[in-house]
Amino acid sequence: MSEVQEKVHKVYLGGKWIETGEEIHVKNPATGETFASVAAVNRDQVRDAFTAAQASYPAWRGLTAKERGTLLLRIADEVHKRADEIARIITMENGKPLAQSKGEMAMTEDHLRWFAEEGRRAYGRLIPHQVQGKRNMVVRTPIGVVGAIAPWNFPLVLAVRKAAPALAAGCPVVLKPSSQTPLSTLAFAECVEAAGLPGGVFQVVVGSARMIAEEFLTNSICRKITFTGSTEVGRELIRGAAQSIKPLSLELGGLAPLLVFDDCNLDQAVEQTLIAKFRNTGQSCIAANRIYVQRSIHDEFLKRFVAGTQKLKTGPGLEPGVDVGPLINQQGLDAALAQVEEAVHGGAKVLCGGKRMAGLKGYFLEPTVIDGVTEASLCMREETFAPVAPFTTFATEDEAIELANASDYGLSAYAMTRDIGRIFRLAERIEAGTIGINDGAPTTSQSPFGGVKQSGWGRELGSEGLDAFLETKHVSLGGI
Ligand code: NAP
Repeated sequence: MSEVQEKVHKVYLGGKWIETGEEIHVKNPATGETFASVAAVNRDQVRDAFTAAQASYPAWRGLTAKERGTLLLRIADEVHKRADEIARIITMENGKPLAQSKGEMAMTEDHLRWFAEEGRRAYGRLIPHQVQGKRNMVVRTPIGVVGAIAPWNFPLVLAVRKAAPALAAGCPVVLKPSSQTPLSTLAFAECVEAAGLPGGVFQVVVGSARMIAEEFLTNSICRKITFTGSTEVGRELIRGAAQSIKPLSLELGGLAPLLVFDDCNLDQAVEQTLIAKFRNTGQSCIAANRIYVQRSIHDEFLKRFVAGTQKLKTGPGLEPGVDVGPLINQQGLDAALAQVEEAVHGGAKVLCGGKRMAGLKGYFLEPTVIDGVTEASLCMREETFAPVAPFTTFATEDEAIELANASDYGLSAYAMTRDIGRIFRLAERIEAGTIGINDGAPTTSQSPFGGVKQSGWGRELGSEGLDAFLETKHVSLGGI
C-alpha cells in the first residue's frame, strides 16, 4: 500500500490478501469524506482465521524466543522503513497532526524492539523443595491463540502493544482494528508479511465489531481476548466471557485528574499540562480530563495556560505546523460541544474556544478552556475525548487527593509539584495505574501501563506486558 487510494483494500488472512465481497468505508475526519474502502469479513472468515492461527501455533511456539525475537526485529525494521508513509495513513484515517502520527510510528517500532528482547526473559523458576526426593519448578508457556481488539485513537501503536508481546510469547494473533481506522493496521500486516512471519501467525479481521467479538468469545481456539476501548464495551466482553471463563485483558476508559500544586515550576507545569490535555486532540485515554489548580496560583496558571492554548494551531493534520487536528467524527464533536454547554449552564466560564472551527469542513473544535466547573459537570464525570480543558481549584493536598480519587476510573493521573515528600505521598495514595509527575506524556515501552477500578484489568508494556500471554505452570518432580 504505497499510497492510500480509492480501491478496496484486502484483509490479511492465513498469509494471503483476501477480497471478501463486502466492504466498509473509511472517512478522513479532516474533510468528513470517504477516501478508502476495506474488505469486511463474515463470521465464517473469522472462524477460518482461528483455524489458520491454530494450525500455525505448534511451529510458532516451537521456535526459540530468540528466533521469534529476530522476526519481530525484522518487522520493526520494516516499520522503520515505512514510518513516514504509514504516519500519513494514520493522519488520513484518524486526523491527528502528522508529527504526532510520526511519534506513534516511533513508539510502534520501539514496542516491537522491546518485546523482541523481552520475549527472551519469560523466565520460569526452580523453588527450594520441602519434601526429600522432590523438586518443584515453574514453567511459563504461551497461552494460545489470541483475539485482539484495538480502538481508533492510536490505531497502530495500541494494536502493536497487544500483537508484539503476544507474538513474542509464542501466541498467534487475530487482530481486529477499529472500523474507523483499519488502514494503518493493514499496512502493518504488510510489514509482518515482508518480515517473513509464517501465514496464520498474524491476521487482520475488519468488519462488524459485534459479530467478530462474538466469534472471539465463543470459538474455543481463541484462548485469550485483549481489548482496548470503552468501559461500556469492556463490560459487554466481561458478560460474554462469563460462559467460557475466557481470560480478558482490558484497557478501558479514563478520567484523569491533573493536580497543579503551588510549589511547581510554573512554566514547566503549563507546558506539561498543555501536552497532557491537547496531545492527540484530547482524544487519549490518558488525557487530563479534570484539572485542579491550588487556589494561590490559580489566576497566574490560568493566564499562562490560556495563552499557551491560544498559540496552538488547529487544522488538517497533514498541514505543516498543526498542533490540534479534527475530532474523529460528528458524534465526538457534538459530545464535546454538549459538555461545554452543560458546564456553562452550571456556571462555568469559557476563557477561550468553545465553538466549532469556522471555515473548516471536518470535525474541528477550537481548543477550549473553561474555568469554574463544578464536580457535578459532565466534563468532570464523563470522559471528554476532545480539546476541552475544564478547570477548578483545591486548597490542600488532602483535598486534591480526595478529588483525584473521587471517580470510578483510574487509568492515569498527573501532578505538578517539586516537593519530594509530596511526590511519594501522591504515588502511594492516588488510585491510578500511571502517575505523571511533571510529565504530561508518561507512557513508554519499558514501563507497565493499565488501569485500576473501571479503567481495566491487567497491564500492557514493561515486563508485565508479556504476562498477559503466558500461562504459569507448576511442575512437581518426584523420585529424585
Ligand atoms: P470502543 O467503541 O469501545 O471501540 C474499541 C474497539 O472495540 C473498536 O475496535 C470497536 O470496533 C470495537 N467494538 C465496538 N463495539 C464492540 C462490541 N460490542 N464488542 C466488541 N468490540 C467492540 O472505543 P473507541 O471509541 O474506539 O475508543 C475510545 C475509548 O477507548 C475511550 O473510552 C478510551 O479511553 C479507550 N481507550 C483506552 C485505552 C487504554 O489503554 N486504557 C487506550 C485508548 C483508548 P468498531 O470501531 O469497528 O466499532
